[in-house]
Amino acid sequence: MADKRILIIYTGGTIGMVNDPDTNSLIPFDFKNILKNVPELRNFDFQIDSRSFNPPIDSSDIYPDIWKKLVTIIEESYDVYDGFVILHGTDTMAYTASALSFMLHNLSKPVILTGSQLPLGTIRTDGKENLITALEIAAAQKNGQALVPEVCIYFQDKLFRGNRTTKYNAENFRAFRSDNYPPLAEAGIHLRYNYPFIRYTLKPGEFAVSKEMNTNVALLKLFPGINKSVVDAVMNLSGIEAVVLETFGSGNAPTFQWFLDSVADALSRNVLVLNVTQCIAGSVDMERYATGVHLSELGVISGYDITTESAVTKLMFLLANSKNREEVKKSLNMSLKGEISI
Ligand code: ASP
Repeated sequence: MADKRILIIYTGGTIGMVNDPDTNSLIPFDFKNILKNVPELRNFDFQIDSRSFNPPIDSSDIYPDIWKKLVTIIEESYDVYDGFVILHGTDTMAYTASALSFMLHNLSKPVILTGSQLPLGTIRTDGKENLITALEIAAAQKNGQALVPEVCIYFQDKLFRGNRTTKYNAENFRAFRSDNYPPLAEAGIHLRYNYPFIRYTLKPGEFAVSKEMNTNVALLKLFPGINKSVVDAVMNLSGIEAVVLETFGSGNAPTFQWFLDSVADALSRNVLVLNVTQCIAGSVDMERYATGVHLSELGVISGYDITTESAVTKLMFLLANSKNREEVKKSLNMSLKGEISI
Protein backbone atom coordinates (compact mmCIF):
# COMPACT_ATOMS: atom_id res chain seq x y z
CA MET A 1 0.00 0.00 0.00
CA ALA A 2 1.34 3.41 -0.98
CA ASP A 3 2.13 5.48 2.06
CA LYS A 4 1.84 8.87 0.39
CA ARG A 5 -1.50 10.30 -0.61
CA ILE A 6 -2.33 13.22 -2.85
CA LEU A 7 -5.74 14.78 -3.28
CA ILE A 8 -6.80 16.21 -6.65
CA ILE A 9 -9.56 18.79 -6.43
CA TYR A 10 -11.17 19.47 -9.78
CA THR A 11 -12.95 22.82 -9.77
CA GLY A 12 -13.60 23.01 -13.51
CA GLY A 13 -11.92 24.47 -16.55
CA THR A 14 -10.68 23.13 -19.84
CA ILE A 15 -8.42 20.45 -18.38
CA GLY A 16 -11.31 18.29 -17.25
CA MET A 17 -13.04 18.09 -20.60
CA VAL A 18 -13.33 15.19 -23.00
CA ASN A 19 -14.87 14.88 -26.37
CA ASP A 20 -18.39 13.53 -26.30
CA PRO A 21 -18.47 11.16 -29.28
CA ASP A 22 -22.25 11.53 -29.54
CA THR A 23 -22.25 15.29 -29.96
CA ASN A 24 -18.60 15.85 -30.90
CA SER A 25 -18.38 18.66 -28.36
CA LEU A 26 -16.38 19.11 -25.15
CA ILE A 27 -18.02 18.08 -21.93
CA PRO A 28 -16.59 17.78 -18.39
CA PHE A 29 -15.65 14.21 -17.51
CA ASP A 30 -16.42 12.56 -14.24
CA PHE A 31 -13.26 12.77 -12.17
CA LYS A 32 -14.03 9.44 -10.61
CA ASN A 33 -12.83 8.17 -13.98
CA ILE A 34 -9.56 10.05 -13.89
CA LEU A 35 -7.51 6.86 -14.00
CA LYS A 36 -9.33 5.87 -17.15
CA ASN A 37 -8.59 9.20 -18.78
CA VAL A 38 -5.02 9.44 -17.55
CA PRO A 39 -3.85 5.83 -17.10
CA GLU A 40 -0.28 7.06 -16.49
CA LEU A 41 -1.37 8.02 -12.99
CA ARG A 42 -1.36 4.33 -12.06
CA ASN A 43 2.42 4.37 -12.37
CA PHE A 44 2.90 6.67 -9.41
CA ASP A 45 3.93 5.02 -6.19
CA PHE A 46 1.50 7.09 -4.19
CA GLN A 47 -2.23 7.01 -3.80
CA ILE A 48 -4.30 9.57 -5.67
CA ASP A 49 -7.80 10.48 -4.60
CA SER A 50 -9.96 13.02 -6.32
CA ARG A 51 -12.85 15.29 -5.56
CA SER A 52 -14.80 17.20 -8.08
CA PHE A 53 -16.94 20.29 -7.91
CA ASN A 54 -20.46 19.56 -8.97
CA PRO A 55 -21.10 21.22 -11.32
CA PRO A 56 -17.57 22.13 -12.42
CA ILE A 57 -17.19 25.86 -12.97
CA ASP A 58 -15.52 27.94 -15.60
CA SER A 59 -12.97 29.95 -13.68
CA SER A 60 -14.55 33.23 -14.77
CA ASP A 61 -17.28 32.33 -12.28
CA ILE A 62 -14.86 32.00 -9.37
CA TYR A 63 -15.68 34.16 -6.35
CA PRO A 64 -14.50 34.18 -2.72
CA ASP A 65 -17.01 31.55 -1.58
CA ILE A 66 -15.23 29.11 -3.87
CA TRP A 67 -11.92 29.98 -2.23
CA LYS A 68 -13.61 29.35 1.12
CA LYS A 69 -14.79 25.97 -0.16
CA LEU A 70 -11.28 25.11 -1.34
CA VAL A 71 -9.56 26.04 1.91
CA THR A 72 -12.25 24.14 3.82
CA ILE A 73 -11.59 20.99 1.78
CA ILE A 74 -7.86 21.40 2.41
CA GLU A 75 -8.44 22.02 6.12
CA GLU A 76 -10.67 18.97 6.49
CA SER A 77 -8.29 16.65 4.70
CA TYR A 78 -4.99 18.25 5.67
CA ASP A 79 -3.89 15.44 7.97
CA VAL A 80 -4.79 12.72 5.50
CA TYR A 81 -2.90 13.99 2.46
CA ASP A 82 0.71 14.87 1.75
CA GLY A 83 -0.15 17.36 -0.95
CA PHE A 84 -2.95 18.86 -2.99
CA VAL A 85 -3.38 19.47 -6.70
CA ILE A 86 -6.14 21.87 -7.67
CA LEU A 87 -7.33 21.71 -11.25
CA HIS A 88 -8.68 25.08 -12.22
CA GLY A 89 -9.46 27.09 -15.34
CA THR A 90 -6.53 29.23 -16.35
CA ASP A 91 -8.45 32.49 -16.66
CA THR A 92 -8.51 33.34 -12.97
CA MET A 93 -6.02 30.79 -11.68
CA ALA A 94 -3.58 33.52 -10.64
CA TYR A 95 -6.28 35.13 -8.48
CA THR A 96 -7.17 31.83 -6.81
CA ALA A 97 -3.52 30.96 -6.23
CA SER A 98 -2.93 34.40 -4.69
CA ALA A 99 -6.07 34.21 -2.55
CA LEU A 100 -5.24 30.73 -1.24
CA SER A 101 -1.73 31.81 -0.34
CA PHE A 102 -3.21 34.43 1.99
CA MET A 103 -5.93 32.16 3.38
CA LEU A 104 -3.68 29.20 4.25
CA HIS A 105 -1.24 29.66 7.12
CA ASN A 106 1.82 27.66 8.18
CA LEU A 107 1.52 25.45 5.16
CA SER A 108 3.89 22.51 5.30
CA LYS A 109 2.37 20.69 2.30
CA PRO A 110 2.28 21.66 -1.37
CA VAL A 111 -0.88 23.11 -2.90
CA ILE A 112 -0.29 23.07 -6.64
CA LEU A 113 -2.74 24.61 -9.08
CA THR A 114 -2.72 23.62 -12.68
CA GLY A 115 -4.97 23.42 -15.69
CA SER A 116 -4.52 23.37 -19.42
CA GLN A 117 -5.15 25.20 -22.63
CA LEU A 118 -6.36 22.03 -24.37
CA PRO A 119 -8.62 19.47 -22.68
CA LEU A 120 -7.20 16.22 -21.33
CA GLY A 121 -9.31 14.38 -23.83
CA THR A 122 -7.63 15.89 -26.90
CA ILE A 123 -4.59 14.43 -28.62
CA ARG A 124 -2.32 17.48 -28.31
CA THR A 125 -3.41 18.22 -24.78
CA ASP A 126 -1.02 20.07 -22.49
CA GLY A 127 -3.15 18.87 -19.59
CA LYS A 128 -1.55 15.50 -19.18
CA GLU A 129 1.96 16.81 -18.64
CA ASN A 130 0.69 19.59 -16.42
CA LEU A 131 -1.30 17.20 -14.25
CA ILE A 132 1.39 14.54 -14.03
CA THR A 133 4.16 16.97 -13.11
CA ALA A 134 1.94 18.86 -10.67
CA LEU A 135 1.25 15.55 -8.92
CA GLU A 136 4.92 14.68 -8.85
CA ILE A 137 5.72 18.05 -7.27
CA ALA A 138 2.86 17.72 -4.78
CA ALA A 139 4.30 14.41 -3.64
CA ALA A 140 7.96 15.41 -3.66
CA GLN A 141 9.59 15.11 -0.26
CA LYS A 142 13.00 14.93 1.31
CA ASN A 143 13.38 13.37 4.73
CA GLY A 144 9.62 13.43 5.11
CA GLN A 145 9.39 17.18 4.39
CA ALA A 146 7.63 18.60 1.34
CA LEU A 147 10.05 20.11 -1.16
CA VAL A 148 7.68 22.96 -1.98
CA PRO A 149 5.37 23.78 0.94
CA GLU A 150 3.72 26.65 -0.90
CA VAL A 151 0.68 27.53 -2.98
CA CYS A 152 2.02 27.34 -6.54
CA ILE A 153 1.00 27.25 -10.15
CA TYR A 154 2.58 24.61 -12.34
CA PHE A 155 2.20 25.25 -16.05
CA GLN A 156 4.01 23.99 -19.11
CA ASP A 157 7.43 23.46 -17.62
CA LYS A 158 7.62 25.84 -14.71
CA LEU A 159 6.53 25.94 -11.13
CA PHE A 160 5.77 29.45 -9.91
CA ARG A 161 4.90 30.89 -6.54
CA GLY A 162 1.13 31.33 -6.98
CA ASN A 163 0.91 34.87 -5.70
CA ARG A 164 3.59 36.02 -8.16
CA THR A 165 1.81 34.83 -11.29
CA THR A 166 -0.21 36.47 -14.02
CA LYS A 167 -1.99 34.88 -16.95
CA TYR A 168 -0.56 36.59 -19.96
CA ASN A 169 -1.32 34.36 -22.93
CA ALA A 170 -4.75 33.15 -23.93
CA GLU A 171 -3.50 30.66 -26.52
CA ASN A 172 0.05 29.63 -25.88
CA PHE A 173 0.81 26.59 -23.74
CA ARG A 174 3.03 28.91 -21.71
CA ALA A 175 0.07 30.76 -20.23
CA PHE A 176 1.62 32.17 -17.06
CA ARG A 177 4.46 34.43 -16.11
CA SER A 178 6.11 35.42 -12.90
CA ASP A 179 8.36 38.26 -13.89
CA ASN A 180 9.20 39.49 -10.43
CA TYR A 181 10.15 36.16 -8.92
CA PRO A 182 12.11 33.21 -10.32
CA PRO A 183 10.45 29.84 -10.93
CA LEU A 184 10.52 27.53 -7.91
CA ALA A 185 11.19 24.56 -10.18
CA GLU A 186 11.73 23.79 -13.83
CA ALA A 187 10.76 20.59 -15.53
CA GLY A 188 12.92 19.11 -18.25
CA ILE A 189 14.44 15.68 -18.24
CA HIS A 190 14.79 16.30 -14.53
CA LEU A 191 12.71 18.34 -12.16
CA ARG A 192 15.08 21.00 -10.94
CA TYR A 193 14.05 22.74 -7.75
CA ASN A 194 15.22 26.25 -7.15
CA TYR A 195 15.72 25.74 -3.42
CA PRO A 196 17.00 29.21 -2.41
CA PHE A 197 13.75 30.74 -3.66
CA ILE A 198 11.33 28.31 -2.03
CA ARG A 199 9.75 29.57 1.15
CA TYR A 200 10.56 27.32 4.07
CA THR A 201 9.26 28.46 7.40
CA LEU A 202 11.90 27.86 10.02
CA LYS A 203 9.46 27.30 12.83
CA PRO A 204 6.11 26.57 11.20
CA GLY A 205 3.25 27.01 13.63
CA GLU A 206 0.01 25.10 13.53
CA PHE A 207 -1.65 24.90 10.12
CA ALA A 208 -4.61 27.27 10.04
CA VAL A 209 -7.01 28.73 7.51
CA SER A 210 -8.80 32.05 7.17
CA LYS A 211 -12.12 31.77 5.41
CA GLU A 212 -13.41 35.29 5.20
CA MET A 213 -12.65 37.76 2.44
CA ASN A 214 -13.96 41.31 2.17
CA THR A 215 -14.84 42.25 -1.39
CA ASN A 216 -15.16 46.00 -0.87
CA VAL A 217 -12.17 46.47 -3.13
CA ALA A 218 -12.00 48.26 -6.48
CA LEU A 219 -9.42 48.25 -9.23
CA LEU A 220 -8.76 51.37 -11.25
CA LYS A 221 -6.41 51.19 -14.21
CA LEU A 222 -5.15 54.60 -15.24
CA PHE A 223 -4.75 55.66 -18.87
CA PRO A 224 -3.97 58.98 -20.49
CA GLY A 225 -7.32 60.69 -20.92
CA ILE A 226 -9.08 59.00 -18.02
CA ASN A 227 -11.74 61.46 -17.01
CA LYS A 228 -12.66 62.93 -13.68
CA SER A 229 -16.07 61.32 -13.47
CA VAL A 230 -14.55 57.83 -13.83
CA VAL A 231 -11.97 58.46 -11.09
CA ASP A 232 -14.51 60.14 -8.81
CA ALA A 233 -17.02 57.34 -9.36
CA VAL A 234 -14.55 54.66 -8.27
CA MET A 235 -13.20 56.66 -5.32
CA ASN A 236 -16.77 57.27 -4.11
CA LEU A 237 -18.26 53.81 -4.66
CA SER A 238 -20.68 52.98 -1.92
CA GLY A 239 -19.07 50.79 0.75
CA ILE A 240 -15.66 50.88 -0.88
CA GLU A 241 -12.78 50.26 1.54
CA ALA A 242 -9.77 49.97 -0.73
CA VAL A 243 -8.80 50.89 -4.27
CA VAL A 244 -5.96 49.25 -6.17
CA LEU A 245 -4.64 51.98 -8.40
CA GLU A 246 -2.85 50.58 -11.44
CA THR A 247 -0.39 53.31 -12.24
CA PHE A 248 2.20 53.94 -14.93
CA GLY A 249 5.78 52.69 -14.79
CA SER A 250 7.31 52.89 -11.35
CA GLY A 251 4.07 54.05 -9.74
CA ASN A 252 3.36 57.33 -11.48
CA ALA A 253 0.02 59.04 -12.03
CA PRO A 254 -1.28 62.33 -13.44
CA THR A 255 -0.55 65.42 -11.39
CA PHE A 256 -3.79 67.16 -12.39
CA GLN A 257 -5.30 68.82 -9.35
CA TRP A 258 -8.71 67.17 -9.83
CA PHE A 259 -7.04 63.75 -9.80
CA LEU A 260 -5.01 64.41 -6.65
CA ASP A 261 -8.09 65.90 -4.95
CA SER A 262 -10.15 62.83 -5.76
CA VAL A 263 -7.49 60.50 -4.31
CA ALA A 264 -6.98 62.76 -1.26
CA ASP A 265 -10.70 62.84 -0.62
CA ALA A 266 -10.92 59.04 -0.69
CA LEU A 267 -7.98 58.77 1.70
CA SER A 268 -9.60 61.27 4.06
CA ARG A 269 -12.64 58.97 4.17
CA ASN A 270 -10.35 56.12 5.26
CA VAL A 271 -10.39 54.41 1.86
CA LEU A 272 -7.02 52.74 1.32
CA VAL A 273 -5.32 53.39 -2.00
CA LEU A 274 -2.68 50.85 -3.02
CA ASN A 275 -0.31 51.76 -5.85
CA VAL A 276 0.43 48.87 -8.22
CA THR A 277 2.28 49.24 -11.48
CA GLN A 278 0.66 48.37 -14.80
CA CYS A 279 4.01 46.97 -15.92
CA ILE A 280 4.29 43.21 -15.85
CA ALA A 281 7.74 43.44 -14.27
CA GLY A 282 9.41 45.83 -11.86
CA SER A 283 8.34 47.66 -8.77
CA VAL A 284 6.55 50.78 -7.60
CA ASP A 285 8.93 53.43 -6.36
CA MET A 286 6.96 56.56 -5.68
CA GLU A 287 10.04 58.57 -4.82
CA ARG A 288 11.59 58.30 -8.28
CA TYR A 289 9.49 60.85 -10.20
CA ALA A 290 7.52 63.90 -9.12
CA THR A 291 4.44 62.19 -10.56
CA GLY A 292 4.87 59.48 -7.95
CA VAL A 293 5.96 61.66 -5.06
CA HIS A 294 2.57 63.40 -5.10
CA LEU A 295 0.83 60.12 -4.44
CA SER A 296 3.09 59.10 -1.63
CA GLU A 297 2.70 62.54 0.01
CA LEU A 298 -1.06 62.07 -0.03
CA GLY A 299 -0.79 58.74 1.79
CA VAL A 300 -1.10 56.29 -1.10
CA ILE A 301 0.52 52.99 -0.09
CA SER A 302 3.18 51.35 -2.22
CA GLY A 303 2.36 47.94 -3.65
CA TYR A 304 6.08 47.36 -4.33
CA ASP A 305 6.41 44.62 -6.94
CA ILE A 306 3.07 42.96 -6.22
CA THR A 307 0.90 41.64 -9.05
CA THR A 308 -2.58 43.06 -9.45
CA GLU A 309 -4.04 39.61 -8.70
CA SER A 310 -2.14 39.48 -5.44
CA ALA A 311 -2.94 43.08 -4.54
CA VAL A 312 -6.69 42.58 -4.92
CA THR A 313 -6.77 39.33 -2.96
CA LYS A 314 -4.34 40.55 -0.28
CA LEU A 315 -6.63 43.51 0.36
CA MET A 316 -9.70 41.25 0.47
CA PHE A 317 -7.91 39.09 2.99
CA LEU A 318 -6.57 41.93 5.13
CA LEU A 319 -9.83 43.88 5.23
CA ALA A 320 -11.63 40.79 6.52
CA ASN A 321 -8.96 39.62 8.93
CA SER A 322 -7.31 42.65 10.53
CA LYS A 323 -8.15 44.46 13.75
CA ASN A 324 -8.13 47.89 12.17
CA ARG A 325 -6.95 50.02 9.24
CA GLU A 326 -3.53 50.55 10.78
CA GLU A 327 -2.96 46.82 10.88
CA VAL A 328 -4.01 46.55 7.23
CA LYS A 329 -1.52 49.28 6.29
CA LYS A 330 1.24 47.59 8.23
CA SER A 331 0.58 44.27 6.52
CA LEU A 332 0.55 45.91 3.10
CA ASN A 333 4.10 47.00 3.79
CA MET A 334 5.14 43.46 4.63
CA SER A 335 5.58 40.30 2.66
CA LEU A 336 3.00 37.94 4.16
CA LYS A 337 3.47 34.96 1.88
CA GLY A 338 6.35 35.97 -0.33
CA GLU A 339 4.13 38.12 -2.56
CA ILE A 340 6.47 41.14 -2.54
CA SER A 341 10.21 41.65 -2.44
CA ILE A 342 10.97 44.11 0.32
N1 ASP B 1 -12.36 29.63 -19.55
C1 ASP B 1 -11.60 28.56 -19.00
C2 ASP B 1 -11.49 28.78 -17.53
O1 ASP B 1 -10.72 29.59 -17.07
C3 ASP B 1 -10.27 28.48 -19.63
C4 ASP B 1 -9.42 27.40 -19.04
O2 ASP B 1 -9.91 26.42 -18.51
O3 ASP B 1 -8.22 27.50 -19.09
O4 ASP B 1 -12.18 28.14 -16.78
